[in-house]
Amino acid sequence: MANKITLNGDGSLEVPDSPIIPFIEGDGSGVDIWPAARHVLDAAAAKHGRTVEWREVLAGEKAFNETGEWLPQETIETFQEYLIGIKGPLTTPIGGGFRSLNVAIRQILDLYVCLRPVRWFPGVPSPVKRPQDVDMVIFRENTEDIYAGLEVEAFTPEAKKLRDLLKDSFGWEIREDSGIGIKPISKSGSQRLQRAALNYAIERGRNRVTWVHKGNIMKYTEGAFRKWGYELVTEEFSDKAVGWEDCGGDSGDKILVSDVIADIALQQVLTRPKEFEVIATMNLNGDYLSDALAAQVGGIGIAPGGNANYVTGHGIFEATHGTAPKYAGQDKVNPSSVLLSGVLMFEHIGWSDAAADIERALEATIADKVVTYDFARQMEDATEVKCSEFASAIVDRL
Ligand code: NAP
Repeated sequence: MANKITLNGDGSLEVPDSPIIPFIEGDGSGVDIWPAARHVLDAAAAKHGRTVEWREVLAGEKAFNETGEWLPQETIETFQEYLIGIKGPLTTPIGGGFRSLNVAIRQILDLYVCLRPVRWFPGVPSPVKRPQDVDMVIFRENTEDIYAGLEVEAFTPEAKKLRDLLKDSFGWEIREDSGIGIKPISKSGSQRLQRAALNYAIERGRNRVTWVHKGNIMKYTEGAFRKWGYELVTEEFSDKAVGWEDCGGDSGDKILVSDVIADIALQQVLTRPKEFEVIATMNLNGDYLSDALAAQVGGIGIAPGGNANYVTGHGIFEATHGTAPKYAGQDKVNPSSVLLSGVLMFEHIGWSDAAADIERALEATIADKVVTYDFARQMEDATEVKCSEFASAIVDRL
């Protein structure tokens, strides 16, 4: 009988062999990639004697057409109750009251970590010479920073009020024709992300954790992120990790924690990717970094993502690309992004065996040059297959 995933007292997840997992199919090409990914996920779970009872919840266009709402309350409540879920891409409604449905889901469930693993699968076309050297996991803070939406538009009474306040209270002069955004970075928000990154590194046997920041310029926000990160290492992780300054780079058998300025980081992930394993950074840096890194290993058709709160146990895993509307319903696009998000979800719930099987089978399929159009157009002698055929080819190799 299918059961709920629940949270244990120690913060770990209690996962039955037949968990109920809610899913959002997604708009546009979601109708193609979700069934393909599900086919593979089900086959891999079955190989290990498990089954997932998938429970559909609505969001996006499908929800709007059926209920008149873009993000029904029932969907949020189902995710709240079942803890773990997966979703395809969603159209951002124009004038629908949300900046983005994805952002709304993250905020409502307080999913403070955006998890983006980036690794290369042999054979995937890449613009760099040694994509095999890229094997990183990015922890991007999801709830703060200039992304918090605290903005006032230029030439409005609100902008004038804020300018006047800043002038009166701090003596700060801001040009009259300015829009203004606020960048909050809190100690608690920074450290819960950094804690998650350190715990991940410990659990996965990773050797390096890097804080990426622009603290040389933004001292009390990004600089504080760096400082709080090192404080966390000494206060909570001193038996397992050590900061660069405390060991001169020689961390012995502990995890080495260092920091890099964001602009240099964008160079170094390209020029010496082997030096990066787990990266933790704030919202905006994380956005740039994860897309730049995804490009190094084959682009958005294959990049997975997850959003999680490690305290409440909530996690929603999602394709990182959009709805690719021009291909919707053509059984054409690459399902790897949502499939690998499912792999990430399986790892997250402790089904590492099934997750590893899928990665191996995907690798074998690509190595056999059986691929969807996006890879086929960049590979020689590839066999181009449909989205569903690609999924079947992976299942054949499980
Ligand atoms: P997009 O849907 O990501 O598509 C841009 C291009 O990326 C496609 O034309 C295609 O390139 C390639 N692509 C996307 N998904 C692919 C896949 N599965 N396999 C292979 N190639 C893929 O971006 P967009 O056109 O800017 O956005 C469309 C809608 O998606 C918008 O409403 C946007 O708001 C939404 N969106 C949602 C999310 C999300 O839900 N997480 C994220 C981003 C955007 P080629 O044309 O070169 O083949």
